[in-house]
Amino acid sequence: MSTELTITKAPAGLEGPGFFATNIDKVIGLARSNSIWPLPFATSCCGIEFMATMGSNYDLARFGSERMSFSPRQADLLIVAGTIAKKMGPVLRQVYLQMAEPRWVISVGACASTGGIFDTYSVLQGIDKVIPVDVYVPGCPPRPEQIIDGIMQIQELVRNEPLRRRDTQEYKALMQQYGIQ
Ligand code: SF4
Repeated sequence: MSTELTITKAPAGLEGPGFFATNIDKVIGLARSNSIWPLPFATSCCGIEFMATMGSNYDLARFGSERMSFSPRQADLLIVAGTIAKKMGPVLRQVYLQMAEPRWVISVGACASTGGIFDTYSVLQGIDKVIPVDVYVPGCPPRPEQIIDGIMQIQELVRNEPLRRRDTQEYKALMQQYGIQ
């Protein structure tokens, strides 16, 4: 096992002898992106891949995300992994609504993203019918490497998100599309 530590790169800023200056958006983005607290909403086989992602072999702790939250109020990343029945849609939406802003969503696998092979009357044909999604991870099931890649893409979004994005008209319009005030 390697004991080498990698230091996270400093955000973009001005540097000189004895000083470093940047802006608050970048510092907060850096801190948030390396301390994401996921809430797993796992309903079927993709959930098993997520469990593997948390295990020692893939070890999501390396990304600062080892602390699973089973309370939406202490989570900022909703990871939806598995088939979502239409009856489950309102429950998923309620969990999302109980998360405080800023919050992000990953849709893991074909079922969560599109209904997958279950093109039936009972299965939601994509969770973006009920909540906004930031990153889609393809596959049936996606391997843990793909889930990690999805989380790294979320980290990129988090790192670069302006602090006032959630107050913008575009974001409010997106929420209104989902009937969220
Ligand atoms: S995408 Fe495939 S592996 Fe994932 S929940 Fe659906 S059927 Fe299972």
